[in-house]
Amino acid sequence: MEKKVRVRFAPSPTGGLHLGGVRTVLFNYLFAKKHKGTFVVRIEDTDQRRYVPGAEDYLFDCLRWCGLEPDESVQHGGSLGPYRQSERKSLYKKYADTLIEKGLAYYAFDTPEELEKMRAELATPANPSPQYDRQVRMQLRNSLALGAAKTNELLEAGTPYVVRIKMPEQDTLRFTDLIRGEVSFDTSTLDDKVLLKADGMPTYHLAVVVDDYHMQITHAFRGEEWLPSAPVHILLWKYLFGLVQMPQWAHLPLILGPNGKLSKRDGAKYGFPVFAMNWTDPASKEITEGFKEKGFLPEAFLNLLALLGWNDGSEKEIFSLQELIDAFSIERIHSAGARFDYEKAKWFNHEWIKKSSVDRLLPEFEQRLFSQPATAEERKKLCQVIELVKDRCTLLMDIKEQAGFFFTDPLQVDTAAITGKWSAEKRAFFEWLADQYQHAPLGDAAAQEQLFKEKAASLQLKAGELLLPFRIMLVGGKFGPGVFDIATVLGPATTARRIAYALTLLP
Ligand code: GLU
Repeated sequence: MEKKVRVRFAPSPTGGLHLGGVRTVLFNYLFAKKHKGTFVVRIEDTDQRRYVPGAEDYLFDCLRWCGLEPDESVQHGGSLGPYRQSERKSLYKKYADTLIEKGLAYYAFDTPEELEKMRAELATPANPSPQYDRQVRMQLRNSLALGAAKTNELLEAGTPYVVRIKMPEQDTLRFTDLIRGEVSFDTSTLDDKVLLKADGMPTYHLAVVVDDYHMQITHAFRGEEWLPSAPVHILLWKYLFGLVQMPQWAHLPLILGPNGKLSKRDGAKYGFPVFAMNWTDPASKEITEGFKEKGFLPEAFLNLLALLGWNDGSEKEIFSLQELIDAFSIERIHSAGARFDYEKAKWFNHEWIKKSSVDRLLPEFEQRLFSQPATAEERKKLCQVIELVKDRCTLLMDIKEQAGFFFTDPLQVDTAAITGKWSAEKRAFFEWLADQYQHAPLGDAAAQEQLFKEKAASLQLKAGELLLPFRIMLVGGKFGPGVFDIATVLGPATTARRIAYALTLLP
């Protein structure tokens, strides 16, 4: 029987969640949901020095905003927890001990100063920063070099130690990556990575393998930057649980910026985290806005991330989350780096705003348009307005510019754009028009337009030359949806008032 699919996202709570991280979540999630599997979130907090308070909650908030709800996690519970590595400390120690017993790992007592000295002494131009590996390990202070008696003595004296893996001399470690196929590593170039730190905490390498085993993970999508760590993980799987149990790995291609690697400056410009953090993220100090604050819809954000390195084989670009789940396949993930283009990201957002319902957009626009909760009347009006202007909004806050004038009179009226062709006849026309709005029931937009045009014709004025002034009077400038639609939503009293006010500014 096929094993039930279980994937995990394993973030370290050390800072913001960036677009690359969310893409990793998304691919894990899509794969899990496609195969009716389980999506686990495990907090990898073993590096106490890098821990940032608040980062864990922030992470779950981001996932919630994206609509990528985990099935098992610290916040969601589950039978294979705890889901925070710091709470699983005793488990790792047991495996480190087993490895030592079998001669596959060893105690290392070297102090940071000793390691520093070793690096300085052994450095050559060809090897400027020597690693802790088979070439140097016998010259250092570890259980392999010191022997059992001395080691026991040091341990009994409570000497701080780390546990290191003993990398085999000459071996080739292989695995089949779901995206890039067969990958192999020559162990003679690899160092003896630390597995257990002096504080008793595991390093990422040991913890990730032990936890993937205990949490019965079957597949893991992670960033390409983790590929160099794979050989250590393969070895640990081989030593501890057997390779058949190892999850299938898929290393996702890097996300590239317009000029190669995504830089910090690109982040400041385009807001790479999902949303702004309420702490100072040392890695992205300059970044004060994420995609949420920039005015992206989560639907659009997920859609654009999915297309960073994947497509369904057709030209189709707009996918809902459910459509992505249905269409997702690993075979269609490219192994080459995916280019992030902010203009294209905005295009996705614009498409999503256009295709979203008024109900969906209402809360998004409401909070951006009003500083206080809208009244029932404002909300009703906003629904009409959204219908009229949503196609004109690329980012959600564009609503301010596109719809603000429906709720407050324009602060400035661009009369300069009117005065050039202004005349006494036109003034008379608008005085008449204001009067009509004030006193006569005008009917719907089409009826208003008809009346407007008939009156213009009767005065031998070109309707085309009156429409722009009319728009400017209502809106303040040369933009917005159909002018009679605007007048209809504004209502006759406001329309009349704005015409009358503009006339006071005109000769
Ligand atoms: N804790 C690692 C991270 O912060 C997880 C890497 C992995 O998925 O194996 O990204």
